Amino acid sequence: MLRIPCPCCGLRDETEFTYNGSAEAPRPTDPEDGAAAAAYVYFRANPRGWHAEYWHHAQGCRRWIKVIRHTVTHEIAASGWPDEDLPMPEAAPNTGKAGR
Ligand SMILES: [Zn+2]
Repeated sequence: MLRIPCPCCGLRDETEFTYNGSAEAPRPTDPEDGAAAAAYVYFRANPRGWHAEYWHHAQGCRRWIKVIRHTVTHEIAASGWPDEDLPMPEAAPNTGKAGR
């Protein structure tokens, strides 16, 4: 289970949150551009590594947050409000395994 640091409530269990997808895909600005809207809704990357994501603290403060999570190890490098620019780690996460 993930322990997600909510900027409002502190470290909380993943079960209190709802995942809402990538925070990296830019939201289309032209409401008449159906192709851009379809691409935004249906075509998402499935990255291996660090990923910026939106989470909703549905069973807590009910606020939206942004989380930088590694998609393989689930390590969380940072969290903040959706409009914050969070630092994206460049190094591999600490997997707890020595060498490989
Ligand atoms: Zn919260």
